[in-house]
Amino acid sequence: MTMNKNTITGKDLVRIMSKVQIHPVTECWNWTAATDTYGCPQVKLNGTMRCCHRVLFKLFNPTADTEKLSVKPVCNNPLCVNPDHQEIRGYGHTGQPRAERKLTPEDVATIKRLLAEGSMPQHVIAEGFGVCPRTISSINTGKTWNSVQP
Ligand SMILES: [Zn+2]
Repeated sequence: MTMNKNTITGKDLVRIMSKVQIHPVTECWNWTAATDTYGCPQVKLNGTMRCCHRVLFKLFNPTADTEKLSVKPVCNNPLCVNPDHQEIRGYGHTGQPRAERKLTPEDVATIKRLLAEGSMPQHVIAEGFGVCPRTISSINTGKTWNSVQP
């Protein structure tokens, strides 16, 4: 996979997820760390403060061109960074929670990378990609998507 300023490592992810509290009912990923003056969750990556909505959305939607688009939570919770709750204007992802998404090979490559790094529990990966945990488990065991390399 190509490394760019949006690529986050397993170490970054552990740091990001340690600042996230997942609400058991709404499944909002509530950001508990720094925000900018507009209240947008901020995370430091490679020495630069970045919008956490955008960074996480990009991780879980590897083919999305997030640079040109604005990201906002559809759950109306400005502190929510759950990628499955974000809406990107001009991009096909509706952000409607719980509608099983169709995975692309790029998605699967990212899922395999996350599984290999072991920094994110499978149910959290599933939620971020908007699929059910069984889908992630089948990818993990090689039952599906066996041909895709991480
Ligand atoms: Zn939310």
